[in-house]
Amino acid sequence: MGLGEYKRKRDFKKTAEPAGAAEARARKSRVNRFIIQKHDASRLHYDFRLEMDGVLKSWAVPKGLPWGQAEKHLAVEVEDHPIDYADFEGVIPEGQYGGGTVMVWDRGSYEVTEAENPLDGLRKGKFHVILRGEKAAGEWAMIRMRAEAGKNQWLLMKTGGSVKPISKARDDESVKTGRTMKQIASDRDAEW
Ligand code: MN
Repeated sequence: MGLGEYKRKRDFKKTAEPAGAAEARARKSRVNRFIIQKHDASRLHYDFRLEMDGVLKSWAVPKGLPWGQAEKHLAVEVEDHPIDYADFEGVIPEGQYGGGTVMVWDRGSYEVTEAENPLDGLRKGKFHVILRGEKAAGEWAMIRMRAEAGKNQWLLMKTGGSVKPISKARDDESVKTGRTMKQIASDRDAEW
């Protein structure tokens, strides 16, 4: 784990995304943060991120969270992101890596049920998470299907029972600023 790939892919003179200086500041707290960002890049997807070992372990989930028991959505593992990224909302300039609008869709804390250390679950390729967010509350599982060089495919599965899906309006509302994707795109506050 590390931020090498994250840094290689981005030109921090051109994007307002965090440069990842906080890499070394691994927090000792037992409470681990999760974050989901809605990202309207070349394809709309949700970036599911779990704080582990001083970085945000990250997956791109095209369909977002599943809500019905045993429902599974593809989650493609992507490069680790810096902890600071959890607060990033704004517009990545066109032509830059991941160019498009980013919303802080949900955030909160998570717990891995079967492992003392979330990293064990990651290594094993299967773990259950309890998410305590503003939109996502309940249990999901992460299951690794296939390991390809740098592009592991996982399934994000709803476990522990179905929950009521959030409304369309709530899906398009930032938990950080209350803005819609359209408002974020037109405000462009994080663009340099
Ligand atoms: Mn993304």
